[in-house]
Amino acid sequence: MAKTEKKARGKRAQPKGPALQFGGKWAYAPAPESTDVVTLRERYDLFVGGSFVRPKSRRWFPTVNPATGHSLAEVAYANAADVDLAVQAAKKALPGWRKLSGDDRARYLFRIARILLERAREFAVLETMDNGKPIKETRDVDVPLAAQHFFHHAGWADKLELLFPGAAAGQKPEPVGVVGQIIPWNFPLLMAAWKVAPALAGGNTVVLKPAETSPLTALLLCEVFQQAELPPGVVNVITGDGATGKALVEHPGLDKVAFTGSTEVGKQIQAAVAGRKVDLTLELGGKAAHLVFEDAALDQAVEGVVRGIFFNQGHVCCAGSRLLVQESVHDTFVQKLQRRMARIRVGDPLDKNTDMGAIHSQAQLARIQELVQAGVDEGAELFQPACSLPRHGYWFAPTMFTGVTQSHRISREEIFGPVLSVSTFRTPDEAVQKANDTSYGLSAGIWTDKGARILWVAERMRAGVVWNNTFNRFDAASPFGGFKESGFGREGGRQGMRAYVRMPGALLPG
Ligand code: NAP
Ligand code: MG
Repeated sequence: MAKTEKKARGKRAQPKGPALQFGGKWAYAPAPESTDVVTLRERYDLFVGGSFVRPKSRRWFPTVNPATGHSLAEVAYANAADVDLAVQAAKKALPGWRKLSGDDRARYLFRIARILLERAREFAVLETMDNGKPIKETRDVDVPLAAQHFFHHAGWADKLELLFPGAAAGQKPEPVGVVGQIIPWNFPLLMAAWKVAPALAGGNTVVLKPAETSPLTALLLCEVFQQAELPPGVVNVITGDGATGKALVEHPGLDKVAFTGSTEVGKQIQAAVAGRKVDLTLELGGKAAHLVFEDAALDQAVEGVVRGIFFNQGHVCCAGSRLLVQESVHDTFVQKLQRRMARIRVGDPLDKNTDMGAIHSQAQLARIQELVQAGVDEGAELFQPACSLPRHGYWFAPTMFTGVTQSHRISREEIFGPVLSVSTFRTPDEAVQKANDTSYGLSAGIWTDKGARILWVAERMRAGVVWNNTFNRFDAASPFGGFKESGFGREGGRQGMRAYVRMPGALLPG
């Protein structure tokens, strides 16, 4: 271990079975997942040209554990000069990487996926510490799905001609080139995998910018790239803030920008690349409708709704934040939901029994508080179960509003927190009309016993993903992306790969 490194355990006080109140009962949380599996460095440098390098900016910034409010480590700040070095490294690596056979590129991707799984516990614990999400989610969702994305795209790397027939005779799909990728803080490792895996499979090289508040697992992934002996410069990771992202987007050396984040920043990026020969895909915000019909299996639907809004503290672009319940079952359903919400365990994210962890940052907590206050001021009825929250860090109780109308801010704006708004509908037509009455269009959910109704409603939904009798399920083979202000382009599946190849000599451009 380098002198500058130390075991994470020494850095944070381990809570010993803190008493937590769940719905009026006191329970003692078991010992948390050991942090011994993670070795935190005091300082993390940029990953450029296959090595960790000190930033030209000579600046570092702290990244915080949201569950404690304490700094975990310092991370290098990339300024415009650092961004330039990273783009140059990706440019230099491009000819060699694109010349490799698909078979050889696949070998690297398989190797990355395998190493990621071998180091799964380390990734899960580090993600939980840097992000605040519960260990059972990082362990069972984020890390396995990230590995699945590398496995899945490894499988495509040598089959691109089969995936995209239509290039002129004798020609193959070509890489787009150097890709700038910018990701948000809510699924830091998973979003990195969603971006990097298809880019590499297509023969592109990458400069990735993680979010300022959750950079550590992307940097750990760089160690995996080193272990897999990925050629230097094929992936470069630059940490920083919004200005770093802006400098990357504005860099003239890019051939493509792939962005996941807020609609507001997505619009700025679209303006920044306008008029340049740069491909663009945008995965933006959402305000998903979750429809429960009177014939649905209500207890299962309750579980689906809870998963839809309280998974990852509601920091989910496709969260089912607008619940629309058929009027005849509204009161019964709300009572069931209230009882279920009282059993949600909020607390130490490293505790394997925790259902809801910490709110990711102070800024996000302030945004949630502001919108919840707006819900109260505009006349919706607030419900929060009895729930004692830890004293340090950033926390918010599971929250539900009933009596919400389409005009309320909590029904229109993305809260990106554990806040559900509930309203009613009488007919399937009204359900569809209310569900589509939003500027977003990322996802939706339908609970009903009737297969014909599922098809009728799903067909009319203006949403990229429509879940039926389930919610928040993901798979690398299934394309994900939005309509309207939720963006354009898809990630995952054949459609996701399409954004990372060009078709020489094809009749259609692209
Ligand atoms: P954000 O504020 O838009 O930031 C996203 C990323 O863009 C971060 O890395 C951020 O850097 C960077 N950035 C900020 N300003 C920039 C600029 N002017 N130019 C280039 N990059 C810039 O979003 P967030 O708060 O991190 O994430 C939450 C949002 O992401 C929500 O709206 C959510 O719905 C959306 N999201 C969408 C999907 C999807 O697949 N559709 C998935 C996950 C999340 P810093 O963080 O360092 O400032
Ligand atoms: Mg953090």
